[in-house]
This record gives sequence, structure tokens and C-alpha cells, in this order.
Amino acid sequence: MAIKDMDWANLGFGYIKTDKRYVSDYKDGKWDEGRITDDDKVVMSECAGVLQYAQTVFEGLKAYRTGDNKVVCFRPHLNASRMVDSAKRLEMPPFPEERFVDAVEQVVRANLDWVPPHGSGATLYIRPYMFGINPVIGVKPAEEYQFRVFVTPVGPYFKGGAKPITICVSDFDRAAPKGTGHIKAGLNYAMSLHAIVTAHKNGFAENLYLDPATRTKVEETGGANFIFVDADGNLVIPKSDSILPSITRRSLHTVAEEYLGLKVTEREVLLSELKDFKECGLCGTAAVISPVGKIDNHGEEIIFPDGCEEMGPVTRKLYDTLTGIQMGEMEGPEGWVHEIA
Ligand SMILES: *Cc1c(COP(=O)(O)O)cnc(C)c1O
Repeated sequence: MAIKDMDWANLGFGYIKTDKRYVSDYKDGKWDEGRITDDDKVVMSECAGVLQYAQTVFEGLKAYRTGDNKVVCFRPHLNASRMVDSAKRLEMPPFPEERFVDAVEQVVRANLDWVPPHGSGATLYIRPYMFGINPVIGVKPAEEYQFRVFVTPVGPYFKGGAKPITICVSDFDRAAPKGTGHIKAGLNYAMSLHAIVTAHKNGFAENLYLDPATRTKVEETGGANFIFVDADGNLVIPKSDSILPSITRRSLHTVAEEYLGLKVTEREVLLSELKDFKECGLCGTAAVISPVGKIDNHGEEIIFPDGCEEMGPVTRKLYDTLTGIQMGEMEGPEGWVHEIA
């Protein structure tokens, strides 16, 4: 057993097939005991519920090596419970939380050689997901489901430093007020593809979505939550029932209050007040924080003065503290760093 010989520093974010994955089937009202398998293929009916009516939810987290060469992941119980919430909203049978964490551990242990070396910046991305698998043609929930976990190594998110990005206010909406924006479901991404392709064509890295009801309040981007730093150096986090509850963002809230002594406010954030903020970041598992330097609102530019050329000072402290905790260089709250091997 030896870590795979790969050009870790130059790896991108693409699927690479690894050795093992986890599968459990739901049939006759219960989940089976689950298994690790070599088989990366899913065989299903042409009429499977997921193919017809998109009944599928997913999670995303990472495993990585700490300085003392332990393999760990970050707060996996939160992914487990968020997937239960996602499943319930789509009328799917929740996969038990303890079994979710166990499945993640099993797949990482079965692919240990694929966990990139400490310091390479690369990580092992873990993708748990589940979907309706039996034939469904009349619109209703499936009766049989499959839960799977695969892993794939991904390269460093920022190659050569985190340069602030420019994003745009989208003309499309992401999530209706009482819709599915708060769950992690493929359906939220399917409908965002046209919006992100359009943003990229126009030269922007991401979309800022507004609340569809009034189009005055900040929601999030396609796959990351916002954080803002106000004129007093405190953290302001948009609050809405249709924002996906990012684990990174929730962790940054704690880090800001308990490690950096910042005041943190979660509240509705108006598009019209963004001009008063000093820094802006996007948070999610992939990048931890991507700094945003500018937001284009139909030709009008909102510039974040402290984070325009490079990651702003408060964002930097948040980033360094959270990644320090994740990498085991700094003591984090109980249970945040979850040892696997
Ligand atoms: C996954 C996701 C995030 C980030 O959540 P993390 O738990 O921090 O990875 C943010 N927004 C959306 C829409 C997402 O799907």
C-alpha cells in the first residue's frame, strides 16, 4: 500500500475512478446491510424514478491527510443529517445518519492510497448520493432506492493563490420561497446550468441569486453561501429559508465568534446595502472561501474595497483559522475533525 503516484498539485476537479465504492439498496421498506464493491456501474430500468422525475439527493465532503499523517474528514455527521432532511423533502427514505458516517469511513479506508499527501493541496472528494431506482411513470415517489458513496481525488482549488473573482447578479432565480432551495438536490443544479453558462459567456465566474419574491435580497450562488464583512470588521451572513445550509458557512460562523472574537449577524441582506460592505466571500466545501472582489449588477459595479486585489484581511483570518483547524494544525471544537485512519 502506497499513496498513488499522481501529479497532485496539478489535478483538476474531474472524476477519476478509484478502486472501491459503497452501495446499499432499499427494498420492501428497508435498507439492506450495504457493501463495498469494485463495480462502478449502476444498472437500472429505463423508467427508473430518478431518470423520469429527478428523485435524487446528494452530499459532498472531503478526506485529507493532516500533518501527522492521519486521514480525516470534517463534521460528517452534519452531512448525514442534511441528507436526511434532503431525502424527506423529496419523499425518499432517509439513510440512517450513523450508517452514512460508517459508509463514508468504509469507502475512504478502502481507497486510502487515493488520499493525496499532506501539503499537496489536493484532497479526496467524497460523494454520497441516493436515488429512486424502480420504474415510475405515474408521478409518485419510487418504492426502491439506492444509496451510494464514491470518492475521487481533486486538485487544489486555488492554483497560485486565491485571486478575488467577479460575479454577476443573475436574471434567473434559484429557489422559490417555499421550494427546495434548502435541500441538496440535483434538481436545484439542473435548473442552474443555463444561468451559469450564461454568466460564464458574459465573463463572470458565478451568479448571485436574489430572492425570487422581491428580487431585493441576497440569497446565494449556485453552489456556495455568501459571507460579508461590514465596515466595523464584523461578519454578516444572509438568512433565508431557501438558502442551502452550508456546513462551511456554519463553521465559519463559529470560528468568527469563538476564535476571532467577531460579531456575527445572520439576517436578511439587501442587494442595495452591498456597497457598504468591505469584503465578500463564497463558502463551500470545495474552496472553503472564494474571495469576491466585485459584483456586477447589470453594468453597475459593486466593489469590495478591502478584498478587491487580494483576499481581504478578515476573510483571510477566517480562511486560515478554519483550514488550520481542518488540517489539524490548530485545536478545533470537539468533533469537527473526524479521524478515519
Ligand atoms: C453544497 C452547497 C453549498 C455549500 O455547502 P457546504 O456544506 O459548505 O459544502 C452551498 N450552496 C449550495 C446550493 C450547495 O449545494
